[in-house]
Amino acid sequence: MIYKRSSQLFAEAEKVIPGGVNSPVRAFKAVGGTPIFVKSAKGAYLLDEDGNKLIDYINSWGPMVLGHAYQPVVDAVIEKAKLGTSFGMPTELETEIAALAVSMVPNIDKIRFVNSGTEACMSAIRLARGFTKRDKIIKFAGCYHGHSDSFLIQAGSGAVTFGSPNSPGVTEGTAKDTLLAKYNDLDNVATLIEANKNEIAAIIVEPVAGNMGCIVPQKGFLQGLRDLCTANGILLIFDEVMTGFRLARGGVQELFNVNADIVTFGKVIGGGLPVGAFAAREEIMNYLAPLGPVYQAGTLSGNPLAMAAGLAMLKALNNEPAIFDRLEEKTAYLAAGIDRVLKANNVIFTINRVGSMISVHFDENPVVDFQTAAKGDNETFKKFFHGLLQEGIYIAPSAYETWFITDALTYEDLDYTINAIDKVSKTF
Ligand code: PMP
Repeated sequence: MIYKRSSQLFAEAEKVIPGGVNSPVRAFKAVGGTPIFVKSAKGAYLLDEDGNKLIDYINSWGPMVLGHAYQPVVDAVIEKAKLGTSFGMPTELETEIAALAVSMVPNIDKIRFVNSGTEACMSAIRLARGFTKRDKIIKFAGCYHGHSDSFLIQAGSGAVTFGSPNSPGVTEGTAKDTLLAKYNDLDNVATLIEANKNEIAAIIVEPVAGNMGCIVPQKGFLQGLRDLCTANGILLIFDEVMTGFRLARGGVQELFNVNADIVTFGKVIGGGLPVGAFAAREEIMNYLAPLGPVYQAGTLSGNPLAMAAGLAMLKALNNEPAIFDRLEEKTAYLAAGIDRVLKANNVIFTINRVGSMISVHFDENPVVDFQTAAKGDNETFKKFFHGLLQEGIYIAPSAYETWFITDALTYEDLDYTINAIDKVSKTF
């Protein structure tokens, strides 16, 4: 496949946009080469500016769980746009999507909508600090919760891809309130809590981590966090920006039957438009302005186009629970196929997966946290990535990312992908 026009467009973009992109991972720096410029997308496929058709395993980093240009979402946005695109005033639609989200997710009474996952996590932390009247938070190395200051401490995703897990620009004052723990290591968390008695407002965790590849929470890890939080007056925040409305109708709280105190959302909840949200039980949410003292706001929050897209998406997921079974079956089929061909070609690898989140690590040891994720062979990953691109398959341009499977994929697409992986891995 030829990516000539994409290269030209990238060169133009670099002149006026830092690095040519509006979000760093898109720049292909970790894998080399130039990024692909998209013209359109439908279902499981991307059409790029060179006329190539690619099978998409990223799906806008998660939102397109039912495929690109999903008709009910497209229709909802078009119809709403005709009626005005922003008012900065309440609309009935906001209550409708809020009520539906609250009915789908366990253990939440109220939800507030924002414009990104970053905003959702940033606001959740402020709310937790205000509610508990404590300053410190615990986050896990390799977890990514958006680019707000408190979280750019050993962050995953693009932050680690680009070697700036601790970003310049975050003050020491802010950094000292973020304590770092090892994913899947409860003893480590308990020690931190003990050393900071009555100072920790919240533990924020990706309950299935997706920003250092896909990392599965080990048995008892999430429940252990719940118990530690309950025993110490700490709020447990599940960052379900990736997992929410993807791994189950009610997210990881439902999937693993562990309750969080605050849950954050993004990606799927906006159906591909810029939406984030955070939710909790009434007592906590009523701490927010205008009812309570913790301030949080947004000119475009609850934007009618975004809410229409989100509502159409959530309705589709709510009305057809079989979607989650299909996603599980398709991703399990893909995982089994990849496992088969990589073994046949004597490749050293580990596959991690929960539901429709999956990652392939080029290391033979279990990948359970940031340290073990970082051991993967990046040279093999680069060959894998570019080999698949030549076969018309688009996976994330970094080993520290997860693949997001869409229900729009057919078994023919999956077989094509498995065969392509067979072909590419023979060249390693
Ligand atoms: N939390 C998690 C778990 C994420 O994966 C991301 C983005 N990938 C964010 C927060 C930030 O969301 P956004 O990019 O919409 O700001």
